[in-house]
Amino acid sequence: MALTHSVYDSPVFRQACTQFDFAADIIGMEAGVRVRTKLPRRCLVVNLPVRMDNGKVETFEGYRVQHNLSTGPAKGGIRFHQDVTLGEVAALAMWMSWKCSLVGLPYGGAKGGVIVNARDMSTGELERLSRRYMQEIAPFIGPNIDIPAPDVGTNEQVMAWMMDTYSNHVGHFDPGVITGKPIALGGSLGRKEATGEGVAYFTKAYLTDLGIKAGDTTVVIQGFGNVGSETAMALQAWGAKVVGISDFTGGVSNPKGVDIQDAIAYVAKNRSLEGYTGGDTVTNEQLLELPCTVLIPAALERVITEKNAGKLKCRVLAEGANGPTTNEADKIIEQRGDIELIPDVLCNSGGVIVSYFEWLQNLQNYYWEKDEVFARLHKMLAKAKANVDATKAKYRCSRRTAALVLGISRVAEAKAKRGLFP
Ligand code: GLU
Repeated sequence: MALTHSVYDSPVFRQACTQFDFAADIIGMEAGVRVRTKLPRRCLVVNLPVRMDNGKVETFEGYRVQHNLSTGPAKGGIRFHQDVTLGEVAALAMWMSWKCSLVGLPYGGAKGGVIVNARDMSTGELERLSRRYMQEIAPFIGPNIDIPAPDVGTNEQVMAWMMDTYSNHVGHFDPGVITGKPIALGGSLGRKEATGEGVAYFTKAYLTDLGIKAGDTTVVIQGFGNVGSETAMALQAWGAKVVGISDFTGGVSNPKGVDIQDAIAYVAKNRSLEGYTGGDTVTNEQLLELPCTVLIPAALERVITEKNAGKLKCRVLAEGANGPTTNEADKIIEQRGDIELIPDVLCNSGGVIVSYFEWLQNLQNYYWEKDEVFARLHKMLAKAKANVDATKAKYRCSRRTAALVLGISRVAEAKAKRGLFP
């Protein structure tokens, strides 16, 4: 069902709905529970007036979509990006619901976003925008209602400002309202590395299943933010060779291996990979078609499309980003049959898992060692992988559909059992 009458209607929202319908069809999800499981519960649209450094006031538009609250407080990041739309935030919220459910977290799903190019802002402007956004959504979130986190364009510092704003709103220090905070403010050891650690964990596990060794593995990563750079470091530490990286300015390819530490230092200094000379210059389009063992889209949605899916030269496609593959591209990849796809809701779930650990530590005021965080993370990832692969074998479907079958069935069951109110 296309739902073109919906305020969320957009290519990326339709992509998420089509994925859902595919999985719901396979398990014959009953009509009565189907649409209410699929559609977001509610959304908030906020206007955010911010005083800029030049003295003028600029007003930004922001959103928070709470997709599902039936299985626990909603959970999901906040994105600052110039291309944010309500439909995109809704799709991302939907994926958070399936992701949390799939890995067994006691959460629903949500996402937030602000239409802004934060790169063009000063630190002061960014702080005022972050605080204003939190001020506007504060009445609708909380440690037991909806717990935000970082996403594209936001980081630990933004989480710190938002936590402070919320704590002032309620009148006491309340770190459990948001995750991905600095360690000094109740952040968890390992949260910064968690998404990349998880992407690397699954990549290694599926390569091992295929009998491919670290020393024979080449990796290409699109997106060199938190997820891309942490994944690169983890896979390099394992012994794989990263032969291509890129960000929104373009990238480099280097068959001898990109020096990841050097690239990270370059980005820290220059704020992007533009002008980086650690390899031959490539565009993002060229990068995705480079020959490699593992291709990792770790930036935005809809970069693997019907135009390039037939041209991919990887053995494993590990989705570090949310929604990087369109429905048409999914079909092509399935028909090709030569690519192991590790779907987003499984592949990048390490981030929200350690967010959950951070929230638990905040609620208990008891903080864990880093090795404890990683041991618990790996245990949950291993269980999720085994469940997804068993479901894939049971229904003889793609790994994405198997992951979604698991994700959507728990939410649908919770809704059916809770019943309608009144
Ligand atoms: N934004 C991340 C995601 O898409 C993390 C969400 C969280 O930690 O709550 O999974």
